[in-house]
Amino acid sequence: MDQLFAPWRIEWVTRDDDGDVEGCPFCVLPDRDDDRTSRIVARSDHAFVVLNNYPYNPGHAMVIPYAHEGDYRALDDAVLLDHARLKGRTFDAMDAAFDPDGYNAGLNLGDGAAGGSIDDHLHTHVVPRWEGDTNFMPVLSDTTVIVEAVDETYDRLREAFAALPDTTVPGDDRAVEFSHDTPDI
Ligand SMILES: [Zn+2]
Repeated sequence: MDQLFAPWRIEWVTRDDDGDVEGCPFCVLPDRDDDRTSRIVARSDHAFVVLNNYPYNPGHAMVIPYAHEGDYRALDDAVLLDHARLKGRTFDAMDAAFDPDGYNAGLNLGDGAAGGSIDDHLHTHVVPRWEGDTNFMPVLSDTTVIVEAVDETYDRLREAFAALPDTTVPGDDRAVEFSHDTPDI
């Protein structure tokens, strides 16, 4: 399997009626009351999982602490543990939803690594991989196709998250929530 760790760029488009999000999208999106529109599929105490609107592969998601922090070493222990656990649960949900052959998962840190102001709010990419998938993205060069694919992906992944232990689903437009199980550190 070829590795897909080229520098990630997030071409973030929210498709909000108000136009582009002002300010840091990873702070603004979880504050809105419509997780479905924001593509937030799961939430834990200190982090959330959001689909990338311009996926490298179907299911391409990001696990992001709520804290607006660009330096991984500055995260406190509770956030680190919660973020790591949510990443593991994302693998579980993606296994069930998409049955990939493997994953690329990681961070880009530092100015210019991810592009624009998003560098200031760290985010872990989780990209499911299939054998022979490297030619998939050119197929998704049309925006309409991407939007439909992300809609379908959202529903499948959200359903898989909801089937995991210790979850609640607050409503149709809300992300799956994990119960509060982060220990005090
Ligand atoms: Zn932020």
